[in-house]
Amino acid sequence: ALAARQPITGGNWKMNPTSLDDARELAKSVAAAAGSSAAEGIVFPPYPFIGPVGEIIKDTKLNLGSQSIFFEDKGAYTGAVSASMVKSLGVKYVLAGHSERRTLFKDNDAAINKKVLKIIEGGMIPVLCIGETKEEFDANLCESVCAIQLAKDLAGVSAADVKTMIIAYEPVWAIGTGLVCPSETAQKVHKFLRAKLASMYDQATADAVRIQYGGSVTPDSVDELMSMPDIDGCLVGGASLDGEKFGRILNFN
Ligand code: PGA
Repeated sequence: ALAARQPITGGNWKMNPTSLDDARELAKSVAAAAGSSAAEGIVFPPYPFIGPVGEIIKDTKLNLGSQSIFFEDKGAYTGAVSASMVKSLGVKYVLAGHSERRTLFKDNDAAINKKVLKIIEGGMIPVLCIGETKEEFDANLCESVCAIQLAKDLAGVSAADVKTMIIAYEPVWAIGTGLVCPSETAQKVHKFLRAKLASMYDQATADAVRIQYGGSVTPDSVDELMSMPDIDGCLVGGASLDGEKFGRILNFN
């Protein structure tokens, strides 16, 4: 991380914990462990827990996030949740393009682009997740796959809006596998992504964007990852379900 960019790290709870009581407990332990952390922190609870978790963290430095939104404003979309709904609960950051959404829920780049635009229109900040599969990594397609996702998912997004956005580079083969991407490899990809942003926009815009690494981040791997100049934070799944571990990740050295 470079001093010019405030580090930012998110805890993506995914479909955990399984009850409101447990979600409250987790929020309390994260809040206690985070303190006045080195990185700006975000928690992404499941939809039903966003409001209650927001109440618990409202006087802390933690920010509230949503794991997704649907790109329509309102109406007959059974099961869907809109940008304004989560915004009204105090959400500041919204994930778009997480690999589990792309694979399990068939979110394609066109839908992800609509979501990104809707999140911005709703006054929130997208955390756009991109990354290659194991097959693509092995075939040396990491950079081209990420560049295509970036171009498609950011279509129509202005330089001013991209500047405040967060990009999360998450190699699919590192998510939930315990196989953390080596810091030097992640740094290379982050540097490439920043250069790609500079070619899509301009250098000042690219230099302002915060790029997170995600995939099996733990207290053991965070310090080295965060020592890389183009890694500005982490997006954490498994280790964000433990208040102490996530607190340590937020308070990286
Ligand atoms: P993980 O998940 O930390 O459990 O690998 C990361 C993510 O999916 O954002």
